[in-house]
Amino acid sequence: MLTLTAVGGLPDELLALRLEVREFLREEIESRRIRTGADAWMSGIDVDFSKRLAARGWIGMTIPVEYGGHGLTALERFVVTEELLAAGAPVAAHWIADRQMAPGILRNGTEAQKRAYLPGIAEGERFFAIGMSEPDSGSDLASIRTRAVEVEGGWKLSGTKVWTSAAHVATNIVVLARTDRGESRHEGMSQFVVDLPHPAVHIRPIVTIDGEHHFNEVVFDDAVIPLTGLLGRRGDGWRQVTAELSNERSGPERILSTLPLLTAWASRNSTEASPVEQLDMGRLVGRMTALRQLSLAVADRLRVGESPVAEAALVKDLGTQFEGDVVNVVRRHARPEPDDPGDTLTRLLTQSVLHSPAFTLRGGTNEVLRSVVAKGL
Ligand SMILES: Cc1cc2nc3c(=O)[nH]c(=O)nc-3n(C[C@H](O)[C@H](O)[C@H](O)COP(=O)(O)OP(=O)(O)OC[C@H]3O[C@@H](n4cnc5c(N)ncnc54)[C@H](O)[C@@H]3O)c2cc1C
Repeated sequence: MLTLTAVGGLPDELLALRLEVREFLREEIESRRIRTGADAWMSGIDVDFSKRLAARGWIGMTIPVEYGGHGLTALERFVVTEELLAAGAPVAAHWIADRQMAPGILRNGTEAQKRAYLPGIAEGERFFAIGMSEPDSGSDLASIRTRAVEVEGGWKLSGTKVWTSAAHVATNIVVLARTDRGESRHEGMSQFVVDLPHPAVHIRPIVTIDGEHHFNEVVFDDAVIPLTGLLGRRGDGWRQVTAELSNERSGPERILSTLPLLTAWASRNSTEASPVEQLDMGRLVGRMTALRQLSLAVADRLRVGESPVAEAALVKDLGTQFEGDVVNVVRRHARPEPDDPGDTLTRLLTQSVLHSPAFTLRGGTNEVLRSVVAKGL
């Protein structure tokens, strides 16, 4: 079993894997099979690329072999994830399934659900969306109004979800809905796996400021799903999503969304950087290195089955501030304000500027995560 080294780094055995992924990505980019970008784990949807990655065994790496996965550790997955993010590869189609729904189904699913969904995730055939947020329930997730009522032979789901990333390419959505009246607001919620498309589930695009379509409004119009759609225990939804959010918040994607921009700027400036630019570059790289150790340490806690909620929130808070600071620093130094869309640095900077307001919002806002950290510590 692979573990972190004594100083908390990745073991040397993983270098060969890193180089293999890097070479694969170099070929994909040079042959123009993929279009890379900043923040591509959120907005770079390329179903065929996801399938090519799956064929190399780089999706579902930690899913056990008996469920169609590769039985590897979180550290191997970390290496592949880092390389995909550093290249700005378009991984958004499968990202949610691989990052949090496969672990969620493994933790909470029935044997039938594991057999139904996990092999397809590892094959790059099943893509998942997260149906948590609602028009009036974001930070205060316990105020959701989507309801699931048991009807003959199934569950009837009614309500509206919003900001649902990649729902338009998803084969499944995991929905958090209220099933019961609990003693506290955190009781009485349950999770459901819904197969898409579904005649009573309407997915409508929400186009972002850059003209892209990567998230959606999803309306459940009394959508009836089989009884077997319940994920985990009825009424246990809050505990289940809290565990899931640790996977969602702690990965290197909360640090590296703007690494392609930093790299492009570093390449541009390597020979002619001023002392101030060198200082700013050094500070950013130093911070990134420390944050990476933090994210790795959380990955290691997840590997042994813990649920490091406060630590994951800390990675997301500090990491997403870093991502935004990369944009601010490059923007300050890239004089004059670039306006050539054919230039790589310009393209990445434009994308990053337009995406950066979302960094501290998605996955739970940083302000709210600070309360989680404070309570956890
Ligand atoms: C790019 C992107 C992708 C997303 N993808 C998904 C997805 O796939 N699935 C999904 O379910 N959701 C998704 N979301 C939604 C995301 O989880 C919510 O935007 C987030 O939880 C915040 O909720 P809200 O937008 O309703 O903001 P609000 O909760 O209304 O917050 C507004 C402001 O008030 C502050 N605030 C609120 N409560 C407190 C408090 N208690 N203390 C201090 N400050 C507070 C917040 O920090 C924020 O600045 C996505 C969001 C973005 C931006």
